[in-house]
Amino acid sequence: MPEYDFRCKACGHTFSVMSAVEAIDELEPVCPQCDATDISRLIRRVGIVTSEDTRIERLMDPSRMAALDEGDPRAMGRFMREMANELGEDAGPEIHEVIDRLEAGESPESIDQSLGGDETL
Ligand SMILES: [Zn+2]
Repeated sequence: MPEYDFRCKACGHTFSVMSAVEAIDELEPVCPQCDATDISRLIRRVGIVTSEDTRIERLMDPSRMAALDEGDPRAMGRFMREMANELGEDAGPEIHEVIDRLEAGESPESIDQSLGGDETL
């Protein structure tokens, strides 16, 4: 039987109640602390581990990207710093140089040029 989490609206106490899935709608939990019946059900998020991918997807959210002014290297630097924090080691050492230079006001194009070793014209 799954456990459901509830929060008492009167005193804020949270508690769990075991219930069959089909009986959950009829369940009328009572706060074990203050006997109030004004209870709201909490959605339990156990088992949902945010994967690396969804974290990055969240960062790359279109509404956030739209807020980025590409003509503002410092804003990009802040954004990339946030990305680097999320990625940790995976971001690679180069990203910190890029961030530093963006935050110093250097344009993304000129940073690209000086770092893009693989690209030959
Ligand atoms: Zn209560």
